[in-house]
Amino acid sequence: MADQGQKITSRYEPVIGLEVHCQLKTVSKLFCGCSTAFGTLPNEQVCPVCLGMPGVLPVLNKKAVDYSIKMGLALGSQVHQKSEFSRKQYFYPDLPKNYQITQYDHPVCEGGGIRLDDGKWVRLNRIHIEEDAGKSVHEGRYSYLDLNRAGTPLIEIVSEPDLSSPLEASEYLKKLRDIARYLDVSDGNLEEGSFRCDANVSLRPRGTKTLGVRCEIKNLNSFRNIEKAIAWEMLRQADLLDEGRDVEQQTRLWDPAAGKTRFMRAKGDGEDYRYFPDPDLPPLILTSRRINDLKASLPELPHEKALRYQESLGLTEDDALRITADKDLADFFEQTQSLCGGGLPAKLIANWLCAEYLREHHDRQWSFGVSGVTAKDFADLKNLINKNTISGKIAKKVFKTMAETGKSASVIVSEENLEQITDESSVFTVIEDILDAHPGQVAEFHSGKSKLLGFFVGKIMAKGQGKFNPGLVQRLLRKALDARDHQ
Ligand code: ADP
Ligand code: MG
Ligand code: ZN
Repeated sequence: MADQGQKITSRYEPVIGLEVHCQLKTVSKLFCGCSTAFGTLPNEQVCPVCLGMPGVLPVLNKKAVDYSIKMGLALGSQVHQKSEFSRKQYFYPDLPKNYQITQYDHPVCEGGGIRLDDGKWVRLNRIHIEEDAGKSVHEGRYSYLDLNRAGTPLIEIVSEPDLSSPLEASEYLKKLRDIARYLDVSDGNLEEGSFRCDANVSLRPRGTKTLGVRCEIKNLNSFRNIEKAIAWEMLRQADLLDEGRDVEQQTRLWDPAAGKTRFMRAKGDGEDYRYFPDPDLPPLILTSRRINDLKASLPELPHEKALRYQESLGLTEDDALRITADKDLADFFEQTQSLCGGGLPAKLIANWLCAEYLREHHDRQWSFGVSGVTAKDFADLKNLINKNTISGKIAKKVFKTMAETGKSASVIVSEENLEQITDESSVFTVIEDILDAHPGQVAEFHSGKSKLLGFFVGKIMAKGQGKFNPGLVQRLLRKALDARDHQ
């Protein structure tokens, strides 16, 4: 696949644009007071408004608007003081009104973008507010309707066709999701459908400017699937173009089991939803005061945090990006750091977090704040290293036991008798024993083979089972060797 991918990109330039539906974390729906809670019985959370009964009036959810504005501000979009809701007419059983209320030619936000890690800027076209449809459930000969989701607030975030590879697409999507989570406006959960992505893919001959004909892929519910679906679609289109055939504009479905995209429907430009402004909803007018207040309430965003971690805490770029990509992880890092009381360089905590901690976190499927070694226990472990109670090497062993048993670091250290030995006389006795046992090497050392120092240190540390303080061993060893030189 990778080889085939390279063959394609030497001749064709992939052009990708994403349309992302992000479910907003409001308590109630977009135009009525029904709850948006997940997992209740079918059709328990409905009322005449979201059931599309005649004669009802929609009332706009203020929180949903605030969340949309926050997202726009965080992405550098222009927030319009006047926008409009329109009706998008189509028939589908799970759409009780036979139209969806959405924003069309006057969306709430336009422009803005996201910067990828390699510096590339991906432009946004727009962010608009809309309501979700219900859900059809098919079982055997019967189909059922669940309208609990009908009317749930969404924002649709539409990118310009600026992405050029499957990896760029998934990186863009991850960053978008991270920002939604930092702002606390969405769960950003792809598997549960609160973050849904359609990918538009086309190819054009390298060096040309005109956009090729695109296909839109639906049903992408994991980062892995998004990458796979785009890569597969690129291959399909390249084959067609190589044979001199045309790519037809289509909506396609990703089939994860088959690992292919499948034809769903042809998409002509003649598709007509007969949009018109919803007469039941006045234009959405935002005061500059409201926009400014929301701007002032924005938290520190992932890229700002990453920059601060590098500039004022001295983290490497890799660690800073890795930690800030997940808000829960960044919170965990900051908690640990404050519990360590500034006694330990942040860089060391970050190293440990990115290596030891995340390995166990991943293998044992921990979830921050819910399961796994707590920030408090993790900080206690770091403090034991800082106070020289245990060596860094023993600390790794202790951490493994913490992960397995849930015991605290100090309990494990005292139960297993792992305190670092800093008592000079017992370390010195071991050093003398080792030197006595290797007179040949001692002589070689004194005749100039200074590399043998490492040999002695290794033997001594092994004898101490990792419990000797390395600094102390170095110092006492030199003293012992010097003493023998003058004998
Ligand atoms: P529609 O509403 O019909 O889906 P839009 O013009 O709103 O069409 O575009 C939807 C998405 O498709 C946008 O993210 C846009 O960047 C992307 N897109 C448009 N043209 C192309 C193309 N030729 N190749 C790849 N992506 C495209
Ligand atoms: Mg579309
Ligand atoms: Zn309702």
